[in-house]
Formats: sequence, structure tokens, C-alpha cells
Amino acid sequence: MGIVKARELTYEYIRRDEEGNVDGITKAVDHVSLDIRQGQFIAILGHNGSGKSTLAKQINAILYPTEGTVWVDGMDTQDQEHLWDIRQTAGMVFQNPDNQIIGQVVEEDVGFGPENMGIPTEEIWQRVEESLRAVGMYRFRKYSPNKLSGGQKQRVSIAGVLAMHPKCIVLDEPTAMLDPNGRKEVIRAVRGLNQVEGVTVILITHYMEEIIHADRVFVMDQGKIAMEGTPREIFSDVDRLQDLRLDVPQVTLLAYELQNRGVRLPDGILTTEELIQALGL
Ligand code: ADP
Ligand code: MG
Repeated sequence: MGIVKARELTYEYIRRDEEGNVDGITKAVDHVSLDIRQGQFIAILGHNGSGKSTLAKQINAILYPTEGTVWVDGMDTQDQEHLWDIRQTAGMVFQNPDNQIIGQVVEEDVGFGPENMGIPTEEIWQRVEESLRAVGMYRFRKYSPNKLSGGQKQRVSIAGVLAMHPKCIVLDEPTAMLDPNGRKEVIRAVRGLNQVEGVTVILITHYMEEIIHADRVFVMDQGKIAMEGTPREIFSDVDRLQDLRLDVPQVTLLAYELQNRGVRLPDGILTTEELIQALGL
């Protein structure tokens, strides 16, 4: 079995009035089935409200299915006795780094997770060092987190998750609050975790440039998986992406417009270099 598997996963938020009577139901995830293999880099796209965060919270057992089943490394997320194993296997990074960093000093913050797991002190320090190095933040280990930029803080939160030695990291729009530089730093760190450390990455984002390196992309719409494929397959269908209210990278759009005007180009151009090559320049 893969690292994450979902079958017919449905989740409904139930709103209640003051008396506790059901006031309304939102089906946030609607019969989703997916398989993610260990070591893959997965990107999840979708406009606001399409169900991405709700799906992410199922993988970390913050929420449980209303219907269907989710397995993380073979463990059913509804199985209470596996709760901590599941949370340790699939770590979670959220949008706002300020809500995730609690330590006064970077290295102390990164050590909290393994400390709570009861890891011996010496090993905690080892893990803190490895994790900070993996995200390129080791030289800031003695800093106070509030002296860091957004991108640096977010890399510290990622190190904090990494120190728990997860097999999988789910990042829910980790770059949404960052400037372009911070976004690049974080994405570079995330790619490193995947390629060097072999950690499975599930990256939720609405920045199209960030999914170019993914092995597989899922596009969500109204709680369902509306598209699935490699980045190139996904970006080949510009019309569909626009229907789903997603931005297409500038260079992909330009290539698409050129194609429409009769220039012969392959589908799903993802980078400027590719376009230049394809044009024979
Ligand atoms: P996304 O992360 O793609 O923006 P969400 O998973 O946050 O989407 O939301 C999916 C749907 O569920 C939306 O319609 C949203 O309004 C609704 N929703 C999200 N969180 C809650 C909540 N705590 N209570 C009720 N409805 C919610
Ligand atoms: Mg969200």
C-alpha cells in the first residue's frame, strides 16, 4: 500500500444553530479516491473553497471521514490507537509560520516535536542539527525566530516537522504569506527534502510555478478531483484550467496563444527555457 490512500472519502461540515439543530451541511470533500506512493512529490491545486485544506486535515487525522476511508502508511485514520503514529508519519505545515513557531530560539523550537515524542536528549540535538541543515537554516540556530524573515520562519517550521522524522509532509499553502524570495527559499527546501531525504511531499498551493517539479498534480474543484496528471499534462489543458478558475503560468499561456496563432509548439510548455528551445531560438 502507498503512503497515503483514500477511498471514496467524503467529508461534510455540519453547521448547527444555538439549539444544536442542523442548520446546513457543506460537502467539502466529495468521494475522493487517491493513491500516493512513498517518495512522491504531489501538488494539489484548486481555487478557494475547493476542499484542499479539508483533504489535508484528513491525512493528518485532524478530521475524520464522514464516509469512506483514509489510510496513512497502512493505518486507518479512524483507528484511535494509531493517532500519534499517524501524526508522526504525516507531518503538517500550515500557511502562517507565526502560528507554528513557539520556541524563543530556533534550535529549541525545532526540538519541541522530538522532545514531546520522548526522544533521548542527545538524539534530539542530532535531529535538530540535521533538520536545520536540510532546510538551510543551521546558521540561524541561535536566533530568535522573530528576527527572521517569513521564508526563514517557514523553513524553521518545516525543520520542526522534519525533526519528527515523518515519512510524509503535508504543506497547506506554505508560501501564501511570503514574498517571492521567501517562496523560492521554501520551495527549494521542500524539493530538497523530497529529493535528498526521500520524504513524500504533498504541497497545496495556488502558485502554478511551484508545481512544475511535482511528480503528480491533483486539481480539486467542489470537493472532487477534477484533473490528475503530470504538470505537463495538467498545463496542456489551458481551457480546462481556466474553467476551474486557475491561473496558468505566463510562459505556458504565451505558448498556448502562439499555438492558437499557428506556431507549432509542443503542449504544456512549463519554463521559459523550454519555450526558447521549442522556438528554435
Ligand atoms: P480550500 O482549502 O480549498 O480553500 P476548504 O477545505 O478550506 O477549501 O473548504 C472547503 C469547503 O468547506 C468550503 O466551502 C468552506 O467554506 C467549507 N469549510 C471549511 N472549513 C469549514 C468549517 N470549519 N466549517 C464549515 N465549513 C467549512
Ligand atoms: Mg485552504
